Amino acid sequence: MALPKLDQNPVYDLIIPSTKEKIEYRPFLVKEQKILLVALETNDDKQVLKAIRQLLKNCIISECNVNNLAPFDIEYIFLQLRGKAVGENSAIKLKCGECEVENNVNIPLADLFPIVKEVTQEVKIGEEYILHLRYPSFGGIIDSDIEGRELLNQKQINPLQVEELYGTIMQCLESLDTEEEKIYFKDETLEAKEEFVGSLTTIQFESILKFVSDMPKITHDVTFDCVKCNKKNELKLEGMQAFF
Ligand SMILES: [Zn+2]
Repeated sequence: MALPKLDQNPVYDLIIPSTKEKIEYRPFLVKEQKILLVALETNDDKQVLKAIRQLLKNCIISECNVNNLAPFDIEYIFLQLRGKAVGENSAIKLKCGECEVENNVNIPLADLFPIVKEVTQEVKIGEEYILHLRYPSFGGIIDSDIEGRELLNQKQINPLQVEELYGTIMQCLESLDTEEEKIYFKDETLEAKEEFVGSLTTIQFESILKFVSDMPKITHDVTFDCVKCNKKNELKLEGMQAFF
């Protein structure tokens, strides 16, 4: 006798943080868990991002181009899928800051949501030009040579680490209004873009940096008393991998 084909996919919905659009999805199953585990074993952040993209494509039922989503959309959707798959509370292991013993801590995945603040996406360049910024797209990040680390493990962004953020900054340039036309950065070569960024004033560049460092992200404050030494630990979890 053939084994029955299991059809046990309840359908849920969620709101995409950046677009406020409602989409339907199913939780991920063992086959998707496997895609993720294989990618995690490679220790290659890009492979992990690609696996997450595959997971999202498999599980999102509504029409949705995953490549166009912002990094914090991806984080949020991924954690929702995972939350439904493993149960609302995900137990993760966190090391005690004092004795380094691992403690099991429950994280309410379903309650995590990125705070999307109203931010200015326009930078005035002199009297003639207006630069429009946008959040980087997931597809753009995977295809670029930005370190996947920037997305997976984003810690508090330090504006002094400009060199490390450079790839992300380039991804945030959307268009430039001149008196005659709108120029899209996606149509320009990397050299032209770099030359443009290189000719900005420090103040203009800082406006872009602020946009990047204010990018919404999912964070969660955790407090736990260590099972071994009893020390009270207070931590802030940030970035997708913090919740694996
Ligand atoms: Zn301890």
